Amino acid sequence: MLLTLDEIFNEFADLDRQDQPLYLLELGDELPELPDSARTAENRVHGCQSQVWLTTDIQGAGESAIFTIAADSDSNIVRGLIAILAAAYNGKTAREILEYDIDAVFHRLNLQQHITPQRRNGLRGMVDRVLTLARMHLVACNGVDSQDSGRDTDRNRVGSHVTRPGAAKIEQARAEDPFPLNPDAIRQQFPVLCRVLPSGSRPIFLDSGASAQKPQCVIDKEREVEEQYYANAHRGTYQFGLRIDEGFEGARSKIAGFLNAPSADTIIFTPGTTIGLNMIAAGWGRRHLQPGDEILTTVMEHHANFVPWQQLARQCGATLKLIPLTPDGRLDMEQLDFVLTRRTRLLAVTGMSNMLGTINPIRELVRRARGVGACVVVDGAQSVPHLPTDVLADDMDFLVFSGHKLYGPTGIGVLYGKPERLEEMDPVIFGGHMISEVHIENSSWSAAPAKFEAGTMPIVQAIGLGTAIDWVQQTGLSRIHKHEQDLTTLAMERLKTVPGITIYGPGVADRGGIISFRIDGIHPEDLAAILDQKDVFARHGHHCTMPLHDWLGVSATTRISFAAYNTADDVRALMDAIQFAFERLAKR
Ligand code: PMP
Repeated sequence: MLLTLDEIFNEFADLDRQDQPLYLLELGDELPELPDSARTAENRVHGCQSQVWLTTDIQGAGESAIFTIAADSDSNIVRGLIAILAAAYNGKTAREILEYDIDAVFHRLNLQQHITPQRRNGLRGMVDRVLTLARMHLVACNGVDSQDSGRDTDRNRVGSHVTRPGAAKIEQARAEDPFPLNPDAIRQQFPVLCRVLPSGSRPIFLDSGASAQKPQCVIDKEREVEEQYYANAHRGTYQFGLRIDEGFEGARSKIAGFLNAPSADTIIFTPGTTIGLNMIAAGWGRRHLQPGDEILTTVMEHHANFVPWQQLARQCGATLKLIPLTPDGRLDMEQLDFVLTRRTRLLAVTGMSNMLGTINPIRELVRRARGVGACVVVDGAQSVPHLPTDVLADDMDFLVFSGHKLYGPTGIGVLYGKPERLEEMDPVIFGGHMISEVHIENSSWSAAPAKFEAGTMPIVQAIGLGTAIDWVQQTGLSRIHKHEQDLTTLAMERLKTVPGITIYGPGVADRGGIISFRIDGIHPEDLAAILDQKDVFARHGHHCTMPLHDWLGVSATTRISFAAYNTADDVRALMDAIQFAFERLAKR
């Protein structure tokens, strides 16, 4: 029988201070086990250091239905935390759960002091899961199947809303989310967006596709590590060394959970997307490609996912082929069978175009590539920060992304690889930590991830990326995506009214929050400079997609890109600034 919250408070208050942390272990002993049938990938709570499964038993119907939490973990301390959550939430309705001040409970039990930062993040992940289930239940009360929409939140994938059964219902559920993202509140968490510029205004930042701003919690985390316990990772077993290892490996586990990767060992830290893609080209590509083989990619790729394959093809005597695009900038899937052949060894494709905004159907591409035995590399630089990613469900071989586009630090990125792909990939950087044995004549390698992490890693940045992922998960990636789509719809509607404008790329249903355009008579560079005068920060140029600009027949475009902190006011400011550009140029 589980203790009530009052019983927990009373027992806790009777303990000496040094015994309080042990109380979680005792609570964990009392928690009933979750049956194996409930320990599914769907019930896994991401962001926890240990394995956690959480589901709810809902008795009754409608808004008055009562929730009971059923959860378990392989860690007894976490089981103790679950017992507290259950005592706090069990017997409540969805609305009561959403309104409940769980932080007050944690405060009364001094949890901030008694559990490590990683456990605190995991606890937050569990709370978020309960809140999400409660929200989903409320959405379901409005006539939408709760399981369907719940699955959507966790697993919705690139472009899949177009084809998946029940998509209309899910869209409806999203539209009815009773707790949509509040971008004004989010903006407050980003110090750089709150600063006042010399003009007296705040910056309108529309260049998150290049790099996103960081929330205060990420800045604080990096500072905390530097000030409190910095040391090299995987080196010392003194207090700082152990703490830094916990932070560094904890970040790896969070990333694995975030991507639904099979294990933390499939997550390799890299300096960013560009290096990750080059590592795959040099480490996997050179070993597996032969003359006559084909590499398939697209004309919409960023140079980082184009040039390494172009060069690999030259080095190996392979041929580089392209999947044709439709006139509105989507992959022409009807043409795929003509270019994807038995000779295709590797398909490299972006999850989302950084210029057109096109969201590519990764699951379908992987399925078709499997038919010819090709390895699929996904450039997730733009998709991972904006769309839920599930490497298992999509069956990707490799996925890469950068921390700095995901509200995290620069200098850190991730290369995910299927275990068997990492096994058959050679390291390309040699040195300390990545070796198993070194002899005068020869050396052997550690298993992944160490095999690919020679030398000192960007440790503080990796930990900062873990915090950024916590932030994204707490904010809700599906909600961020929905918010960005709303802004994109608004911006597209407004931009279409501008005289002489050409907007590149598909309609909103197939694109993320990126819009590139040209206005007749105004060079993109001039426009960007005039927007800057109005404190609207947008990018101009070829955006590292020269083949795509050639295909479009233009040399440069202006690009705006959205993130969680952008608002409808930002779109209004953009439109005012474009109007100002017309007025300025009319005076010439
Ligand atoms: N791929 C895409 C789609 C991108 O948008 C970018 C960054 N603009 C990259 C790759 C390269 O990322 P990084 O500069 O972080 O290595």
